[in-house]
Amino acid sequence: MINIQRLPEPDILKKNKAKWMKAFLEKRAKGDIKRPSHSQYAHQQIRDTLGAMSFHKCFYCECKVGVGKDGNPEVDHHIEVSEEPKSAFKWSNLYLSCQGCNRGKLDNSQIPVSECLDPCDSSENPADHLIFDGEIIRSKACSSKGMKTIQKYKLDRDELDHLRVRQLRDFERFLRQLYERGGKGALTLKEKEAINSFKQTEHAFSLMFSIYLNKFGF
Ligand SMILES: [Zn+2]
Repeated sequence: MINIQRLPEPDILKKNKAKWMKAFLEKRAKGDIKRPSHSQYAHQQIRDTLGAMSFHKCFYCECKVGVGKDGNPEVDHHIEVSEEPKSAFKWSNLYLSCQGCNRGKLDNSQIPVSECLDPCDSSENPADHLIFDGEIIRSKACSSKGMKTIQKYKLDRDELDHLRVRQLRDFERFLRQLYERGGKGALTLKEKEAINSFKQTEHAFSLMFSIYLNKFGF
């Protein structure tokens, strides 16, 4: 997880949220439905804007979720609709998520979002609470927020460990090829930039790579 800066609200949401909200609350009051319409809160324009905010990565685990119609990102209600129905179409409550983080997360009665890290809260840096040992995610300095975030979104699940370890191996292979010509001092500026690109925000698992690269003085 890293900090995500929110872009302006998409037009489709601005224009329709009041109408969508009214219809949802009326149907919900009658007991007809429990959830808002997916085709509304997860409209392609909303997913595209959320994707542009995170470089098409899950807000929680930082895996790449694909671009446009070919990708399969989900739109997550950060505060669950069952907890706060009035936030069903609130722009600040819509987060981009991979299927695993969205569908597998523990609900609010188990771990409330208020006790976890919020990628859209710029007052807090996830790097102060989360650390990586290779591909293994842990809470930093026994941070309770870090620990609860890992538990809530299951950021230590096998599927993510496999994805992270594969990326680390690819990176190590790339680094070895560069180093074979003679250590860190022999690297060109372009090669150093290529190495550092792994910790840029657009890269999958950039927090893991920034911790890994810092260890090697990059
Ligand atoms: Zn995820």
